[in-house]
Amino acid sequence: GDAAFGPKNIIWAVEQGHQAAISVHKYCQGEDLTDRLPDGMTLQSSKMGMHEWAYSNNYNSVERRLVPQVGLKERFRKLNIEVELGYTPEQFTEEVERCLNCDIQTVFTEKLCIECDACVDICPTDCLTMTEPGTEADLRTRLTAPAKNIDEPLYVSGPLPQTRRVMVKDEDLCVHCGLCAERCPTAAWDMQEFRLLRPYAIDEGAPPAGSDRKFGT
Ligand code: SF4
Ligand code: SF4
Repeated sequence: GDAAFGPKNIIWAVEQGHQAAISVHKYCQGEDLTDRLPDGMTLQSSKMGMHEWAYSNNYNSVERRLVPQVGLKERFRKLNIEVELGYTPEQFTEEVERCLNCDIQTVFTEKLCIECDACVDICPTDCLTMTEPGTEADLRTRLTAPAKNIDEPLYVSGPLPQTRRVMVKDEDLCVHCGLCAERCPTAAWDMQEFRLLRPYAIDEGAPPAGSDRKFGT
């Protein structure tokens, strides 16, 4: 892998190993090496109860803090010491709550929305707006928080059942905290786990007997 694509980390090395295995399999079968299966993907609700989710969703607005380090004088006195001192257990707990849960997606079902405003009200980054429909350029002028990053397209729902307005979400601001879904009385917002399924060589042929791997479902 490194010879072909330059130095990468262990995750890419494993993926390149899988790709090499698929190429070897296809070569041995006399198949076209470039004819690859497409990626599969799944989206599954992470809701486990009224207020329980399969991931940690505590929104934490504490300021980013630097990892404490040994002072320069001490470092020069003892050259073989660990420079980073690490966080205290309490600081560590706060820091991990920053996780953006990138695999958890906010999924909206417009027909369930009763336009109660609860999600708009609780969103800590003001990235949700219910407004009259319009073009994206026009919508950007009417959002609760300005959507400055025009490289990030807005999510715009279909017409809402009561007033035909639309739900608009600026994905650039969303921190995946799940508060909208937790507050929504009708589950119109749901937090769903996204899984990307990359094909392995085993997926190129019939699955072996007893295998429970279901690719692409
Ligand atoms: S998940 Fe995103 S849209 Fe929902 S409340 Fe949190 S920041 Fe707002
Ligand atoms: S909380 Fe739910 S029902 Fe209320 S406006 Fe938001 S999505 Fe619609």
